Amino acid sequence: MNSVNRPVKNILFLTGFFILLIGLVSCEQGPASFAFNGQTMGTTYHITVVKGDKQPPSALSQSEIDELLLEVNASFSTYIDSSEVSTLNLYKGIEGQSKTPEFVELLEEAQRINLLTGGAYDITVGPLVNLWGFGPSFKEDDIPSNELIEQALSNVGFDSISIDADNGLVRKLKPEVYVDFSSIAKGYGVDQLADFIESKGYSNYMVEIGGEMRVNGHNPKGTRWRIAIEKPESSTRAIHKIIHITDIAMATSGDYRNFFLKDGVRFSHTINPKTGKPVRHNLASVTVLNESAATADALATAFMVLGEKKGYDLAMKRELPVFFLVKQRDGFNELMTPAFKNLIEDYES
Ligand code: ADP
Ligand code: MG
Repeated sequence: MNSVNRPVKNILFLTGFFILLIGLVSCEQGPASFAFNGQTMGTTYHITVVKGDKQPPSALSQSEIDELLLEVNASFSTYIDSSEVSTLNLYKGIEGQSKTPEFVELLEEAQRINLLTGGAYDITVGPLVNLWGFGPSFKEDDIPSNELIEQALSNVGFDSISIDADNGLVRKLKPEVYVDFSSIAKGYGVDQLADFIESKGYSNYMVEIGGEMRVNGHNPKGTRWRIAIEKPESSTRAIHKIIHITDIAMATSGDYRNFFLKDGVRFSHTINPKTGKPVRHNLASVTVLNESAATADALATAFMVLGEKKGYDLAMKRELPVFFLVKQRDGFNELMTPAFKNLIEDYES
């Protein structure tokens, strides 16, 4: 029996991937792992921590995990008016605001990826995200006028933000600048949870928020974590491919879950900051591996903007592990960088 056909106790269906939770079975000493599940950032989270020999089971608690996630939201959620990001967004002025080191650090990481991707990734895309109805406030599925798009575009761009990291100050150079961390916050939350779990002395775990994840060490069966990349279709939930990975974070972006349909046309929640419009191409999903889940999360969105051609060229140039699924008339075409292949080689199902 190969590894794919092995009995699976639990399969998680989420945007971009499934986790095959194998080995969560009881043995004489009790369960081989702890599981923590809950809701955050408008989605779900799942954590599996393999029990060590020495750690007392009480060392990790659900309330500490939820507390940590609340802290992440208190900084980066555009759905909370009092969050650090909302305080910046709702302020219609150009004076500098004092921000936590964590906020400044993630903002700088977003800026680095903005530069790396030639502006395809841009968290100042907020006014456009809201205009197209993918932001915090409800909006009818309507196509905005070119005039409104132009107006929103005039407030988009990292050159409208000034960061003074030494003094923890962030300043908008235009009052209407609106920062949207949605494409990186889930990954950042995963990193925070992983660091927390490691600080408690555990090194074998899987942490996932809404499809963005990080795996370390081994699963409860003692082997690499088996992660399934989803078939990028909105009508079904099926596995495209299973990869065996460890000591790495993975994020998937796609146009097949969060979109609206208008007159038969699908409008994706990924916006091209150059045109001000949702991206439209044949790239169905992008999966990125990276040491940092935040970086993987942001890069996956960036590659969705770039499309498979420009995206593949950039991934090759920077030797990034990226896996593209490109829509064909019949099914999907796989495009995998050598760096991605190297990380999964010998373990592919
Ligand atoms: P996905 O898993 O498809 O990447 P995410 O929630 O991680 O979904 O990221 C998509 C979100 O990122 C959008 O809903 C929007 O808020 C924001 N976004 C859209 N376009 C961009 C962009 N070009 N750069 C940065 N963030 C973007
Ligand atoms: Mg993302």
